[in-house]
Amino acid sequence: MLINHKDVKSVISKSNLPIAGFTVNPYVGCAHACKYCYADFMKRFTGHKEQWGSFVDVKHWPQIKNPQKYSGKTIIVGSVTDGYHQCEREFERTREFLKELKGVDVNLIITTKSSLILRDLDLIKKFPDPIVSISINTLDEEFKSDMDNASPISERLETLKRFHDEGIKTVCFISPIFPGITDVFEIIGEVIGYVDYIWLENLNLRGGYKKVILDYISEKYPDLEMLYEDIYKFKNMDYWRELDAKVEKFALENDYMYVIDEEPFLINPSDKPIIINYFYHEKIRQSSKNSK
Ligand code: SF4
Repeated sequence: MLINHKDVKSVISKSNLPIAGFTVNPYVGCAHACKYCYADFMKRFTGHKEQWGSFVDVKHWPQIKNPQKYSGKTIIVGSVTDGYHQCEREFERTREFLKELKGVDVNLIITTKSSLILRDLDLIKKFPDPIVSISINTLDEEFKSDMDNASPISERLETLKRFHDEGIKTVCFISPIFPGITDVFEIIGEVIGYVDYIWLENLNLRGGYKKVILDYISEKYPDLEMLYEDIYKFKNMDYWRELDAKVEKFALENDYMYVIDEEPFLINPSDKPIIINYFYHEKIRQSSKNSK
């Protein structure tokens, strides 16, 4: 791993994300090296030529001035890196950010694939109503290891449980959903009882990693090759439309709230998780209408 240290003016950036006004990415690059990582576009902005996952810039910023100005704002940690990838163990930059914002009334969302987040449980608990989101798109450790260097699925499940037991809101982020591989209902069955939200996001293939994933499917899942061609070469939305309909039916039958593109702090009136669909819903609905 190539590690550089970099001085930056601030670790907090304004965001265009629909779910948060600000993002915090304490690193450039990510040692989790997910094969499907959409954040590899960061290489273009930062002058990196190395393979995504093989370098990390550790950010150093001047102490956050007047942290109270973020009061009432939503901050998401980990939009183009994972704040708890392997380097965080040594450099503690995410921890430093949390310490600097401690006591401020921000809506904090942390998304990660690492059980290292448990190290900061006490700090995270100091925020008024934080949300911890753990990404799980398979229960198959072999497929997980083919895709990323992050924590094993068993540790991610344990992490969700721990945070839930500590009274912190938890999200199982089923992302990215791999057609024919990710079993959304199996994952929901596993996490039920210790998550407040289930977020769904489909696999989106663009840029350099499209070929990597399609080659992987041809090699490891040849039976799915045609399905992937259909979705990713011919842009057929049927798979997503059908999955959407299945989740909607499942939610109806099991009395879960199922919503589309909603903001993540939606109040949950029941003891069952809310399922929030963040995949191309408008397009799916539109294409659904058009195909009728
Ligand atoms: S954990 Fe997130 S940011 Fe890191 S490589 Fe994976 S997808 Fe990219």
